[in-house]
Order: sequence, then structure tokens, then C-alpha cells
Amino acid sequence: MRAEGFETVRRILCVFPRYTSSFGTFEHAYALTDGVRAFMPPQGLLLIAAYLPANWPVRFVDENLKPATKEDFEWAEAVMVSGMHIQRNQMNDICRRAHAHDLPVALGGPSVSACPDYYPSFDYLHVGELGDATHELFRRLAEDPSRPSEQVVLTTKDRVAMSEFPIPAYELADTHKYLLASIQYSSGCPYQCEFCDIPGLYGRNPRLKTPQQIVAELDKLRECGIPDTVYFVDDNFIGNRKAALDLLPHLVEWQKRTGYVTRLACEATLNIAKRPEILEKMKEARFVTIFCGIETPDPDALKAMHKDHNMMVPILEGVQTINSYGMEVVSGIIMGLDTDKPGTADALIDFVEKSRIPLLTINLLQALPKTPLWDRLEKEGRLIKDEVAEGRDSNVDFLMPYDEVVSAWKRAMAIAYEPAALYARYQHQCDYTYAQRIKVPVADELKTWPNIRRALIMLRNIFWKVGVLGNYKRVFWKFALGRLRKGDIEGLIGSAMIAHHLIEFARAATSGRQNASNYSIRLREAAVPAE
Ligand code: SF4
Repeated sequence: MRAEGFETVRRILCVFPRYTSSFGTFEHAYALTDGVRAFMPPQGLLLIAAYLPANWPVRFVDENLKPATKEDFEWAEAVMVSGMHIQRNQMNDICRRAHAHDLPVALGGPSVSACPDYYPSFDYLHVGELGDATHELFRRLAEDPSRPSEQVVLTTKDRVAMSEFPIPAYELADTHKYLLASIQYSSGCPYQCEFCDIPGLYGRNPRLKTPQQIVAELDKLRECGIPDTVYFVDDNFIGNRKAALDLLPHLVEWQKRTGYVTRLACEATLNIAKRPEILEKMKEARFVTIFCGIETPDPDALKAMHKDHNMMVPILEGVQTINSYGMEVVSGIIMGLDTDKPGTADALIDFVEKSRIPLLTINLLQALPKTPLWDRLEKEGRLIKDEVAEGRDSNVDFLMPYDEVVSAWKRAMAIAYEPAALYARYQHQCDYTYAQRIKVPVADELKTWPNIRRALIMLRNIFWKVGVLGNYKRVFWKFALGRLRKGDIEGLIGSAMIAHHLIEFARAATSGRQNASNYSIRLREAAVPAE
């Protein structure tokens, strides 16, 4: 479905801002690939591009790949932008450049939906999801493409059902240049973890697409040159367990039809470990990774943040269960909680070692607007506003001294991502977890020369940049030779790429060159490419 009834034609430029360098964007891995330059194509903006009236020409520019040019702005009659809090400075910069061409600029997406007051310069703010506000925006632009005299805020009250969503305009994105492809089946989460803004923004009753939509999207992603891995960006893949079970057989069929050349990944709560019927189907559908917000191994802390559902099975047992279905666990971890004690970092380091999870995004607590945490801290007078927080890595006035929290975080990062410790965890994943995956015959598609050439380029880059020029060569070769002896090229490439990013990022972070939080309010200026 797309917007209809607009006879006037408008040329729309959709611009996605650069990410500020963060733990979860894997940029240190890109140099080891065959040309990856960015993380994932943006779902929201590509959805809007697909929903625009069919007669409106659209250009899409992801500034993580290349900047919007003077020619792009001169071509356009209006500009649309979307992004997350971490891209705030870059969004405002796009607005400034569009205004230099006297273009009206509309901003949508998660950041403006939570904090419209962050964006006083934009002409139109689109708050909320695709719906009546989107139609009203199109109507106003169709009627008059000049900049309104004052900011117009349009808030969605009547949302378009996800089952009516068009397939995002993946054809506009240069899919080969992304590390992962993204897809979305559901939106919203039934839980209410204190720090999380998902229930406030997208609701507690997950809304859904149909399995047929997802299969059609996967087919389109393949047509558009899908990267090897597709990530379900759903807030919680099992937020509606029945819906997950409805979808999985369709994914299995799709994999069979297309030769199992695509790996799947998703985000889900750890209590998925209690659902063997879901895990079994996910294994069959070639899910290889689940991101679980474990947050902390401390039961008191989980209770305090209302994340009791993480304790439905003992955490280490839950991780092992997921691993036994061939899926690696990636874990979110938060430090700086009110329940943190002087021994918290040691307990976390112990957990990292025992869980053998290679990739944990270890962040300092950040209070996001529209969360119960924000409201509580505001009442307690413990929210540090932006202007005062400059130079800090969190807007929370921790109960423990700030410097102690930051140095505990640095210690945890340094130990977790010490090369030998990290590679030992990857070794375990290769030998145990990856070995549990279903065995599928190598598809003809993977035996083609372009595909073999791609693998060779990545191997050359890894051997040269890590094995020869790197500064953890010995650890790397011990791991690499073991994988080569077993003929496990996939395990070698995948582990070495991500490990390199983690090691490099952790070194930058512990030396103060990176934020201690993916959501840090330290709004450092990402170098927005010049026009
Ligand atoms: S389970 Fe995850 S998505 Fe759901 S409220 Fe908690 S943190 Fe947010």
C-alpha cells in the first residue's frame, strides 16, 4: 500500500544521517571486508520512500556511504530525514544544509518521536509511526512546497496497520555496501523494563506484518543483492510468541527454496530459552544469532529494573540452551545501575568468562526520555541535563561516584576484549555453538566465482591487516590455524572480523577516545562530510 490521491508531483530527497561511531556499528570490521561501508540500511526512511505517492520521484542518500550533494538538494523540492538520538547533531546538520537551498525539511523516526524539542529548526516534525500524520505531511507538501512560516508538528493518531505496510524501498539502497540487511516483522514489546523507551513509543501489544509480507521482503532483498545476514530489527522477536511460531515455518520454506544462503539474526528476551519449540524452528530457519538484553547478571538489579523475565531460567543456563540450538548470544550489559556495588565489575567479568559470550555491548546507564527511569530520576533530581552533562558519558547522577563507575566500566571493557580472552570465547562458539547448526549442502550460488572471490578478498584483508600488521598476531594465528585445519572458513572470517572491531573499539573506549554509552549524550560532532 502507498499514499494515494496526490496529483501534484513533488521531488523528495530522503537523507539518512551518519552514525556517531559506536560499539554496535562495527566500523572497525569494514576494512576487512570486500567493500562494506555501513551497518544496516535504514528501515524507517526506506519505508517512507516506498509509501510516498507513486508519482513522486524519490532519491535516497545514506550519509554513512556518501554525503547528499549540492546537486541532490538542487533537484529536490522537499527533504525527509529520520534517525536516532545518537544521530541528533547530524540530523540538525542535514536540516541546515537543506535550508541553505531554501527547502522544507521534515523529520520523523524514533528520536523526534521521543524528543520533538531536540529539533527546533526543522519545518515539519513527524511524531509517531506511519499514519494520518504522514498523509497530512504529504498533503501539505503537495499543496505548498515552500517552507512554512513556523514549525508544524504532525502527530500520528491513526496508524497504518503493519499488514498494510509496503515493502521498504530496498532497491534505492546500495545493499552491497552494508554489513547486514534489516527486516521488521513486529513492533512493540509487552514488557516494561525501566530504562527502555520501546513500550512508550511503540506500545506493549506488538503489531505485526504477515508472514507473506516477510517472505516477499526477503525475496526483494535477494533481488537487491542482500548481504549474507538479515537482521530482524523487531524490538522483541518473541514479543508475541504465537506470531513468531506462525512466521517460522515460512522462513524455513524460504530457506529451502533459496538454498540456505542467508543467515538470520534477531533480538529477543532471554526467556526464549524456555521455548524449545521456537528455538528448534529458528535453528531450522538458520537463525545464527540472538541479541538478548541480559543487562546484568545480578538478580537484585534485574528485579529493580523490572526485568524479572530474564530470570525465568538461570541466566548461564539460558545462554547455553540457546547455544545448543546453534545460535550465538549477543548480550546487552548496563553498568551504573543503582544496584551496582564495588564488586559489580568483577561479577560482570566473571559472567563474561563463564557465559563465553564473545560480543557484549557494555554501556553505562543512560536515561532516555519517555521511560519510567527518566520519570523516576527526574523526581529524584538525578537527571543531568544536556548542557551540564557535556563531557560526561551519562546523563544519570549515579549513586556510586561517577569516576568509580567509569573506571569500573573501562576495566570491564579492557578485560572482556583482551584479545586472548575474546578469541578463547570465539573458539568455544566455533567448536560448540556453530557446530550445532543444521548442515546444508553448499548452494550453487555460493560456488560462483564472484562469491569465491569475495571470500578470498576478506581472507587476504584479515591475514594482512590482522595477521601481519596487527598487534595481536600470535593470538590471531593460533585461532586462525585451528580453523583452517578444520576447513572452517566461515567461522574464521566471521569471528576475525567482529573480534577486530571489538578489540579496536574497546582500546579506543578505555583510552577515552570513545563513549561509554551507545546513547551517550556527549553529542560529539561526527565529521559530516562536506557537500
Ligand atoms: S524486553 Fe527489551 S524491548 Fe522489551 S521493554 Fe525490556 S528492554 Fe525494552
